[in-house]
Amino acid sequence: MTSSGSTCKACGHGALRGFYRLEQVPVHSCLLMETRAEALAYPRGDLDLAFCESCGFIQNRAFDGSLHEYSTRYEETQAYSPRFQRFLDDHIGRLITSYDLDGKSALEIGCGKGEWLVRYCELSGGHGIGIDPGYRPERTTSDVRDRLTFYQDFYGESYAHLSAEVVACRHTLEHIEQVRDFTSLVRRTIRDRTETLVFFELPDVLRVLEECAFQDLYYEHCSYFTLGSLLRLFRRTGFEPIEAWTDYDEQYLMLVARIAGGTASHPFVAENDLDVTRQAVARFEEALPRRLASWRATHDEAREKGERVVVWGSGSKGVAYLTTLGMRVADEPRSPTELRYVVDINPNKHGKFLAGTGHEIVAPEFLREYRPATIVVMNPIYMDEIGTTCKQLGVDARLIAI
Ligand SMILES: [Zn+2]
Repeated sequence: MTSSGSTCKACGHGALRGFYRLEQVPVHSCLLMETRAEALAYPRGDLDLAFCESCGFIQNRAFDGSLHEYSTRYEETQAYSPRFQRFLDDHIGRLITSYDLDGKSALEIGCGKGEWLVRYCELSGGHGIGIDPGYRPERTTSDVRDRLTFYQDFYGESYAHLSAEVVACRHTLEHIEQVRDFTSLVRRTIRDRTETLVFFELPDVLRVLEECAFQDLYYEHCSYFTLGSLLRLFRRTGFEPIEAWTDYDEQYLMLVARIAGGTASHPFVAENDLDVTRQAVARFEEALPRRLASWRATHDEAREKGERVVVWGSGSKGVAYLTTLGMRVADEPRSPTELRYVVDINPNKHGKFLAGTGHEIVAPEFLREYRPATIVVMNPIYMDEIGTTCKQLGVDARLIAI
């Protein structure tokens, strides 16, 4: 196993404690594979997660950024879910009201397919600039298109001339290995614009550790934060945090900041989470073997009873769930009840295959004929939505949330 270094990428200290290893996982979980053979041959890398005793940041020490491919084949959007749309509307609306952003412009670093930026411009009436190598213009159909500019690229110093009243960066920092360099880059490119509002959103690793949510630990995410470690990184790289909270059923960290002025404000209560995180790391380590055994038993029992099981959710959680449990699909079914299908509501994914595991992605309508006894739901936040869809399709399956 290679190691990308023994110092913390957030604070530079060296007191790292390894706590989770998983070898040979697919390096990407959001890329669409055209064939099962291509999916099974997809490049792999190792997970070697370590906790920094100094700042609480968690990083994959075995991460190799050269294996990564962020292109237009990257399919990360959750925008097909009504529950996710409500979340977008709620927090964007709240930002606009709280910070008086009517008519104000936004620049989004790592905008994906642009759904956040489009919604921001619709609700604020402002202009938007989006930067992402995986952006696809044909996906933007909103009436506000003429107020939007997109660059199919990674963010860097060459974009320092672009300015906006809001700089947003959502679900990007966790994909970046050199996190301190990145937030420093964002700080530098804001220059002396003290009024610029910075908004970051990313997964909360404290919840992942406390729930022993192994499906949320995967290669694409090389960097993991708690509210405290995120706030510490921001203060260290020249920002003044204004507000920080968790949202989306406590799954996401949300942070609003400005560039730091003269005197630093008092630390937030959330910044005092180092001991809590250390204990959560220890509990995760202890609970993981039991949790994996319990899920394996669920699948073994179904197989013995001759029942079919499908997974619902083909994003990173689905890939990580199947990878961690060691479930790979061969070309020919090994048994009539082998788990071979993963359901997703995103039509762009149907007929494609999961990287690394080879499961085929199907539409919910597929279940009408397939008739699974059990559906394992990758994100509990979608339970109601999935329950309603199953009822409408006449699919009578047991839903269990991981
Ligand atoms: Zn650190």
